[in-house]
Amino acid sequence: MSTIFTKIVEGEIPARIVYEDETTIAFLDANPLAPGHTLVIPKAEYERLNDVPAEEATALYETIHRLVPAVEAAVDADATTVAFNNGEAAGQEVPHVHCHLIPRFEGDGGGPIHAVAGEPPELADEELDEVAETIADHL
Ligand code: 5GP
Repeated sequence: MSTIFTKIVEGEIPARIVYEDETTIAFLDANPLAPGHTLVIPKAEYERLNDVPAEEATALYETIHRLVPAVEAAVDADATTVAFNNGEAAGQEVPHVHCHLIPRFEGDGGGPIHAVAGEPPELADEELDEVAETIADHL
């Protein structure tokens, strides 16, 4: 079954499309967290960031790079929060990779990315060293 975003790509359901090329498409979020809240997606359906092949990931980033200043200019934003909910536990509801571009304004009452992960853990230096090494080992 195709995702709601694939239906947008295929024109089966309407969306306010702001940009489209062969590989990617960007459209306004239906439930915006701020004016100009835009989603950028690969047209092909991949659930998680690392399911996206490198070439399409590059195209996705190029579209994000192109869209950020356009979105900021359109709504006169002071900044943008650029984020992926990558997996259900991180809050991903639509299983089709999408990047949120959320315009931000001085004093808008929102928080930084640091606010999304709950209580920060207390980690000793040795634990940090071990985690860093383990990440490097997995590359
Ligand atoms: P997630 O929680 O998966 O990171 O975000 C999914 C986003 O998709 C939400 O912000 C939601 O408002 C948006 N969304 C869900 N369905 C539709 C739709 O049919 N059209 C558009 N334009 N956005 C949608």
